[in-house]
Amino acid sequence: MTPRAFLSLGSNLGDRAEHLRAAVAAVAVHDPYRLSRVYETEPVGGVAQDDFWNLVMELTTAVTPWELLERAQDVEKARHRTRDVRWGPRTLDVDVLWVDGFTSADPRLTLPHPRAMERAFVVVPWRELAPDLISEADVARAAGRVVVLDTLEMLH
Ligand code: ADP
Ligand code: MG
Repeated sequence: MTPRAFLSLGSNLGDRAEHLRAAVAAVAVHDPYRLSRVYETEPVGGVAQDDFWNLVMELTTAVTPWELLERAQDVEKARHRTRDVRWGPRTLDVDVLWVDGFTSADPRLTLPHPRAMERAFVVVPWRELAPDLISEADVARAAGRVVVLDTLEMLH
């Protein structure tokens, strides 16, 4: 069976839906994929910045996890270059969460992603796509509050 890969996509600067759509297209290339709904992460702390929009993507792909990381980093870079406003907020963050049958302790690509399970904005959308990997208890343990918005298709 072709392995599943899961990636976390997030944006909190500029046209968030557009950044997420670009990331989906760039990461998928021609591989089949499914998307969770988009979740908004409630702001923490006092810094005025837009809320994060996050989703999880499932890709069915034979490409290596390293190739996926490269796709993710290429689109992050492409999106960062289009912005000239102050730094801090991120146009786009793409993390590889999991690839079936693959583990790595390399700091350039650690899999499973070491901080994924701590974050509600990862486990809540991830569970939509992979209840076999993420349990209700995992969701209850994760920190932070997220609010479901809609499918990426419906957002603008
Ligand atoms: P954050 O932890 O907030 O996503 P960055 O996106 O700036 O921070 O971190 C990117 C760095 O993390 C890159 O140097 C990348 O090689 C490394 N990295 C290690 N494991 C992973 C992974 N599973 N997915 C994405 N990047 C990873
Ligand atoms: Mg990252």
